[in-house]
This record gives sequence, C-alpha cells and structure tokens, in this order.
Amino acid sequence: MSRILVAGGAGFLGAHLCEKLLEGGHDVFCADNLQTGVKCNIKHLLPQPYFNFIQHDITSALDVDVDEIYNLACPASPVHYQVDPVQTLKININGAINMLDLSKRNNAKILQASSSEVYGDPEVHPQSEQYCGKVDPVCMRSCYIEGKRCVETLFFSYFRQYGLKIKVGRIFNTYGPRMHPDDGRVISNFIVQALKGDDITIYGTGQQTRSFCYVDDLVEGLIRLMRTPVNITGPINLGNPYEITISQLAQHILSLTGSSSRLVYLPLPRDDPRQRKPVIDRARSLLNWEPKVNLDDGLKKTIIYFEKLLCKGGGSGVLNN
Ligand code: NAD
Ligand code: UDP
Repeated sequence: MSRILVAGGAGFLGAHLCEKLLEGGHDVFCADNLQTGVKCNIKHLLPQPYFNFIQHDITSALDVDVDEIYNLACPASPVHYQVDPVQTLKININGAINMLDLSKRNNAKILQASSSEVYGDPEVHPQSEQYCGKVDPVCMRSCYIEGKRCVETLFFSYFRQYGLKIKVGRIFNTYGPRMHPDDGRVISNFIVQALKGDDITIYGTGQQTRSFCYVDDLVEGLIRLMRTPVNITGPINLGNPYEITISQLAQHILSLTGSSSRLVYLPLPRDDPRQRKPVIDRARSLLNWEPKVNLDDGLKKTIIYFEKLLCKGGGSGVLNN
C-alpha cells in the first residue's frame, strides 16, 4: 500500500483517479481548494478509511508524508482558466513548485498532468512529443498554455538538478461522467444542451477538430505512467487518436440523445486551436497502453450520467458543495 497525494482530486479527472487508487488498496490524500472541483465528486469516497480530503490551495505549501504525488490541480476548461488568468499562472507555477518541493522532501515520485495545449495551434499534425508547438505567449489561452509549458520546464529542472523521480503526461481532451454541467467544455455543453432541448452552440464553422479520450482510459494511462521505472520521465502523450470535427460531434450527440435541439453557430473564441490529434506511439511502447473505449460507448455512458444529474434537479445546483 502506497500513500498517494492527488492534488486537484475533487475535480473531474482527480475524482476518478482517487477512486481507482483506493480500489488498488492505497492510502489516498486528496488536496483541493474546490475552485472548479466539487465535494459531490468525492462524497462516496469520504466515508472510506483510507481516503483523506484536505481542503487546501496548493499555491501555499503543503506537508503530507507521501510516496507518490499526482498534480492535477488546475482548471482545465478554457472558460474557467481565462476568468482569472493570473491565478491560472499561479496555480500552475507556484502550485507545481510546492508539489515538487514536497516530492523532494519525501523522495516521492511525482506526476504532472500537462496538456496537449503545450502544442498551441499546431502546424504539425498529428502531434507527437517531439513537436515543440506553436504558441503565442500573449494569446487568450497563454495563461494556461505557458503555465503548463513552464511546469514541464520546472519538472525537468528539478529532475536534472535534484534527481527527482518525475513523470509528465500530456493529456488530450478527455470526457466522461463527473464533468461539471457548467464546465463549459464541448462534450458537457453539447450533452446538457441536447438533453434540455436547448440550442447546440457550435463555435465558429465547427470544422475545427479534436480527439476525445474517455476518462477510464485516461486514468489507466496516468497510473501506468506513474508505475514506470525512474528512467522514464515523459513527456508522454495520453489521448485517443480518433479525430472528429466539432460539427460531427454535435450530430453524433444529437443522434445518441434523440434530441431535436437546433444547431446554432456562434463566434469562435479567440485563439481556438484548429486541430488536435495525438501520436501515442510512446504510450503504446512504454506503457503498453492505448484507449479501449470508443467515442460511441463513452458518449453513451456520459449521456446516462447527465440524464441522471438533470433528473435530480437541473444540473449545477445539485452539485453544490
Ligand atoms: P477540473 O477543473 O475538473 O479539476 C481541477 C481541480 O483542481 C479542481 O478540483 C479544482 O478545484 C482544483 N484546483 C484548482 N486550483 C487549485 C488550487 N490552487 N489548489 C488546489 N486545488 C485546485 O479539471 P480536470 O479536467 O479534472 O483536469 C485535471 C488536470 O488535468 C488539470 O491539471 C488539467 O490541466 C489537466 N488536463 C485535463 C484535460 C481534460 O480534458 N480533462 C486535458 C488536458 C489536461
Ligand atoms: N466548442 C463549441 N461549443 C461549445 C464549447 C466548445 O463549439 O459549446 C468548441 C471549442 O471552440 C473548441 C472545441 O469545441 O474548438 C473544444 O472545446 P473545449 O473547450 O472542450 O476544449 P479545448 O478547446 O480546450 O480543446
């Protein structure tokens, strides 16, 4: 049994990760300031004896005695991380420094949830880890993108300077149950809109592409990455290479929900990347990992989750802490 800290453990991915680690028989510490996460995501875990929730903002130092640290603390939705860009930079940089210092004190392995956003608006398609990205440091997304890029630099600096046992996973768009209905990301937006009969909001022409990974696959990838030998640091892409346009996604969700919602076209947010698709050869060879859940099955599970949530009282209200 390991003692494992999940920073950002009450968020969408963090809650699934905590659950999986507990199932594996570990002692799990979930640190979260509930900025975008909700206690409801972890309420079923709270009674478990080996689950410990610490309400804490990791931009301040944290002291827990652990063997492994997963750093997931950071809002992932563009809507949320752009509300307070300065805080987004602080959570990425100051938060990562605090987690790295904790790892140094404990000689703990540490994994960073980085992002496909480090590739910016890519000119190379699909994106492999060797591609350095095309990023405008002053664009609307740069608080998050440059934050994640700086965190990767911090991880490799601590690795080279202090020999820390680091792992960096670059996560591509991931979806599934426990996304917040007001999260603002495309799959939660489209499903909630379709189930309520509201207009489906396609930004731009809908010809931009993304590649969506189901949450169970992603969590399995993170755990496998953490378990690799010390010489494997990453960065390693974790995502599903199945690429579709946002218009195709909207049509797919309409047909799976049987909804008669209308498609409406709204302006494309500034600096929205045109395409995203991971090369996952490294994850295949080093982690023996690849996604197993296809988009159809993953969307069906996610739709069932949101149907139940909306039945309980209309969405965000029922999730309040
Ligand atoms: P999320 O917003 O649901 O979860 C983030 C969690 O971090 C929330 O619980 C939030 O309250 C917590 N948090 C934020 N600031 C904090 C702070 N200062 N101290 C402590 N906790 C704090 O997002 P998610 O989708 O679960 O993403 C988790 C991680 O994975 C993020 O680092 C994100 O950048 C990364 N990621 C996610 C995706 C994706 O598609 N879900 C893609 C790429 C990268
Ligand atoms: N998007 C959309 N309608 C929405 C929400 C998002 O068309 O209601 C688009 C968005 O402009 C982007 C894509 O869907 O092109 C994915 O958006 P998301 O915020 O989920 O992730 P990211 O842009 O960070 O990959």
